[in-house]
Amino acid sequence: MAKEIKRTIETILNLQTGEVLDVKDIFRNPLIREAEIFKLRSQIQEQVHKKRAVYICIFCKQSIGIRGHINRKDYYLTHTFRSDDCIIKTNHHLTEEQIRCVKYNGEKESDLHNHLKNQIAHYLELDDKIIAVHTEKVFKDLAISKEWKKPDVMAELADKKIAFELQLSTTFLSVIVGRTIFYRDRGIFLIWIFPNFSLDSHLQQFTQKDVYYNNSFNVYVFDEDAQQNSKNENRLVLKCYYKCFTIKNNNIQEKWVSAFIGIDEMNYDTEKMELFFYDSIKEKEILTKLLAEQIDEQIILDQEKAATYKAYHALKYLREFYRNDVEPIPRSVEFPLQHIDTAREIEIFNKEIGFNGNKINVISNLFQSGTKPNFLQLVCEQDNILVDTKNMMVDGKSLFQYLIYMESQWDFYKKIPLLFRKGYKLSDVDYDYFHNLYDKNYFNTTESEREAIERWAFIYCLNSLWHKEDALSLIHIKKILFALLSLKKDLSIGNKFTNLKQLTMNILTYNSDFGKLYINALKKFDQYDRQLLDDKSGKLKIRIDEFFISEPLQNRQFDRIIFEIFPEL
Ligand SMILES: [Zn+2]
Repeated sequence: MAKEIKRTIETILNLQTGEVLDVKDIFRNPLIREAEIFKLRSQIQEQVHKKRAVYICIFCKQSIGIRGHINRKDYYLTHTFRSDDCIIKTNHHLTEEQIRCVKYNGEKESDLHNHLKNQIAHYLELDDKIIAVHTEKVFKDLAISKEWKKPDVMAELADKKIAFELQLSTTFLSVIVGRTIFYRDRGIFLIWIFPNFSLDSHLQQFTQKDVYYNNSFNVYVFDEDAQQNSKNENRLVLKCYYKCFTIKNNNIQEKWVSAFIGIDEMNYDTEKMELFFYDSIKEKEILTKLLAEQIDEQIILDQEKAATYKAYHALKYLREFYRNDVEPIPRSVEFPLQHIDTAREIEIFNKEIGFNGNKINVISNLFQSGTKPNFLQLVCEQDNILVDTKNMMVDGKSLFQYLIYMESQWDFYKKIPLLFRKGYKLSDVDYDYFHNLYDKNYFNTTESEREAIERWAFIYCLNSLWHKEDALSLIHIKKILFALLSLKKDLSIGNKFTNLKQLTMNILTYNSDFGKLYINALKKFDQYDRQLLDDKSGKLKIRIDEFFISEPLQNRQFDRIIFEIFPEL
């Protein structure tokens, strides 16, 4: 089966300029450009007539003509009458690659291409450092080779070979990558040379990734300026356009810059077989890294600034609070301390306050004197205010040792929870003081003995907490905690009852919302059977039965605290 043969021509070459033209472009907007198309048609006919064809078929180099159905504004290109064979007229078997190659070689047949090639070769020959210069000949025969041609110009230096390939149009940019690899594999450096380079029109094409990366953003041009410079210097001078990168407003900016260069001013990387005048890729890499570092530094600076600002406001608030021992602003409106939450903010803020350092005495004094209680409570409740609790001393003793022997019972119950709320951990000496509070010889008879046992019990509870946030809540369930601890220690704590049976009666009567928990504790701490056995009048049994019949609603609000202190329950 013969495949369909297309007789119309898709691509033509301008023999003078080397321009490769596409049929779609030549006949674009046919309605508007009718006059223009007809003018070109007459021009082509005249040239053919004089046997000086400028526009030729890129495959066979034969002259072409414009034909068309005038009424339909439908134009096409065709070979002239009685032309010889052309691959597009025959049932050819060329591959895509070969077709690309034929077109590419065709471009090299133009006058401009020939002129520039000879100029480049001429200036290279004037250079002492160059041993030999080879120029590819123009093929005078009609057929254009379907093999890739040798480079336009090849210069041999003592230590390297450089191939020069002229690119008159940007049609074949796709070829560049393949050709670059071809020469690289043979240990030959390749320089693409363009007749001109307009930043406006070519920029977009040159920003194509594959072209960049093979040329390090460097573009070599042999335009009129370069030719003049070559003439003046008696050697080949090229105009090199390269991308220059800068950092501006936290962005990498780029612009094209140009310089006149000789081939000995290029950098030749013999390992990668790449050459460049200006290493724009490296520059971009360095600046990208630098910019990232600058941005990181800026972020840190900004964070530091913001942290200092927040710390300043919180500090101002705290100082005002200290002065009058009242909140300067109601907390519902604004509470600057809530904004101090990152590690750095906490660090800056606390360095200024100094409660974690040389101003620790301020806090131990407040504990001791009892002045500014609201301020002290704020300091103890705010976890972002750091206090060096270990170093709070009164008269050479730890604050803990001081507080447990405070005269006022009220002060004791107010201050000891604050100390634990702040995360205080007992030292070994503190433990000795703590254990000494509860003398086993105490019989809970005198007021002072009872008080000492109660203090011991309260510290026992505080010290058993896992969550320091709960320390200030203990006071609300002190009676229940003491009742449970009484059962555990088999000793009346916090009451004047002579036996624990009375305690059970009391709890089930007045604190029945903790009744279930209490009865459970009775059983767990082996008090239940003992108390019932001792219940001669049967009143206790009746009270317990009544409790289970009435089933009062149980308070579960403090479960976490209770189970932390009494894990066995
Ligand atoms: Zn042809």
